[in-house]
Amino acid sequence: MARKGLLLILSSPSGAGKSTLTRRLMGWDATMRFSVSATTRAPRPGEVDGREYYFRSRAEFEAMVDAGQMLEHAEVFGNFYGTPRGPVEANMAEGCDTVFDIDWQGGQQIRNSALGRDVVSIFVLPPSIAELDRRLRGRGQDSDEVIAGRMAKSRDEISHWAEYDYVLVNDDLDATFTRLTTILEAERLRRDRQPGLSDFVRGLNREFDAR
Ligand code: 5GP
Repeated sequence: MARKGLLLILSSPSGAGKSTLTRRLMGWDATMRFSVSATTRAPRPGEVDGREYYFRSRAEFEAMVDAGQMLEHAEVFGNFYGTPRGPVEANMAEGCDTVFDIDWQGGQQIRNSALGRDVVSIFVLPPSIAELDRRLRGRGQDSDEVIAGRMAKSRDEISHWAEYDYVLVNDDLDATFTRLTTILEAERLRRDRQPGLSDFVRGLNREFDAR
């Protein structure tokens, strides 16, 4: 029997390295699925509809919420973001783990939903605020005003660190990635995530009996 996929929620302030970690995770395990969120914000250069996000109008977004198609949704930086429900349920049924790059509001909503038992949540902290500022500027995609807004939001995001199962300080990307995959491997081995165990142990007992 296939394992039920788990829901790996990654949250962090912008610039802490969460997107890079998420991308690497997708390359690390081909069965891993990324939850593509819907958003009302405009695409950044290089972003593709359906890959980074589903870029939707406010009216389209609200229609998805009203139809019960969102697992969670929240307002971030004046735009709406939400997780479409269908793909997540399909991934779980197929035994594929889903990675979510969502903020603390989304994390709370999914943790408190009927799927809460399947959640593993990780908060990624920057090594310092100076480094966070440097990484935000290094992207070169946003205006000073936008960056200042993100720094203010970062403080708010970081204040929710204690709601997460695991916390990673991203001082070194390779080391942080190794820790991330270690968490995932351990969580996959939890007894209640290995549905075939009872049958397996029954088989061992049959072997005992046959001796
Ligand atoms: P960005 O606009 O920089 O891509 O994302 C801004 C913030 O929105 C990030 O913290 C990201 O994790 C969060 N976010 C992205 N998608 C979702 C979503 O579907 N739900 C929630 N609650 N937050 C999201």
